[in-house]
Amino acid sequence: MGQEQSHKGYFGEFGGSFVPPELQQVLDYLSEQFYKYKDDPDFNEEYRYYLREYVGRENPLTYAQRLSETWGGAKIYLKREDLNHTGAHKINNVVGQILLAKRMGAKRIIAETGAGQHGVATATACAMFDIDCVIYMGAEDTRRQALNVFRMELLGAKVVPVSKGQGRLKDAVDEALDDLVRNYQNTFYLLGSAVGPHPFPQMVKHFQSIVSEESKRQIMEKEGRLPDAVIACVGGGSNAIGAFAHYLDEPSVRLIGVEPDQAPTLTQGVPGVLHGFKCLVLLDEEGNPRKTYSIAAGLDYPGIGPEHSHLKVTERAEYVTVSNEEVLGAFQELSRTEGIIPALESAHALAYAKKLAPTMDKDQIIIINLSGRGDKDVEQVFHMLKS
Ligand SMILES: *Cc1c(COP(=O)(O)O)cnc(C)c1O
Repeated sequence: MGQEQSHKGYFGEFGGSFVPPELQQVLDYLSEQFYKYKDDPDFNEEYRYYLREYVGRENPLTYAQRLSETWGGAKIYLKREDLNHTGAHKINNVVGQILLAKRMGAKRIIAETGAGQHGVATATACAMFDIDCVIYMGAEDTRRQALNVFRMELLGAKVVPVSKGQGRLKDAVDEALDDLVRNYQNTFYLLGSAVGPHPFPQMVKHFQSIVSEESKRQIMEKEGRLPDAVIACVGGGSNAIGAFAHYLDEPSVRLIGVEPDQAPTLTQGVPGVLHGFKCLVLLDEEGNPRKTYSIAAGLDYPGIGPEHSHLKVTERAEYVTVSNEEVLGAFQELSRTEGIIPALESAHALAYAKKLAPTMDKDQIIIINLSGRGDKDVEQVFHMLKS
């Protein structure tokens, strides 16, 4: 991916920015500031400081010996994003964007959230950095995720329920963008995944690529060679693009993104514009974004980051689906064999690895990105298994 191409915000035919002119001006300024700071040594020193002292990086690349033996075949390593503060990879991006917001003089952070995970990560870091935080959340989602609303409030954020439209994530994004256009002089919109108009996909990838920067160094230390495959779950695509980034130019490494079979954006999507950027998108018969459903709230999104769309059509990465049953099986299997309860999202990556590993040799290596821990999902799994 050439620098020049990156600056225009396109990955092949995907990406770009399809927004009203008022918003485009705000995004152009954001883009300019991001490219100014992303290679700035002081900025990066501060970013690394908070990753170390607050997030708890670097996290381990754990050899899952019992899981590898159980599945047979390739050696399985787990990149432990589940051990980060707040329990997932989302905080990596949040810390990076807040530091940028502070450099840009923002007094207020706004964000959208669906199930609440990005909202909680944002509210967490805003508390620590002492910056006002407003989270837009679909009214329907605030009812389903009442505990996450309370978490955000405990952390000092203001949660605004959005009842326009269907009262879901998309409507929350629209409200947040309206707020940004009205208040851009003092407000920063902190987007939660590798989606949206340019420069968000580039920016989120930049802050999440710490995952593969570490895993590549760690696997070289442990095994003296690169992995044969890296597997990550894909919602909007931020943990996967972070887990893939430093391997994109290593053709021997298979990159595999895993989706729920009920939200198969990359396997069944067609090119279209969604939320201000071009990507593969799931459409219904009338050509509207299809209603998706996933047992893992973080994977329930009808579009996908533009870079994944490009990696799919150029065949640099492979995208596959797994069923809910396979996910629940993998969720329990990791818990029992390794004493690690994974997020349901991450269990998608595990479920596919379980099929791939036995087809590989004992000296081959798979890295699974364990995007988050499963505490948040235990109650839901309880209801699914015990009732
Ligand atoms: C939000 C979330 C995801 C999905 O988001 P991506 O942007 O695709 O990474 C995956 N895993 C966990 C644990 C999450 O919280």
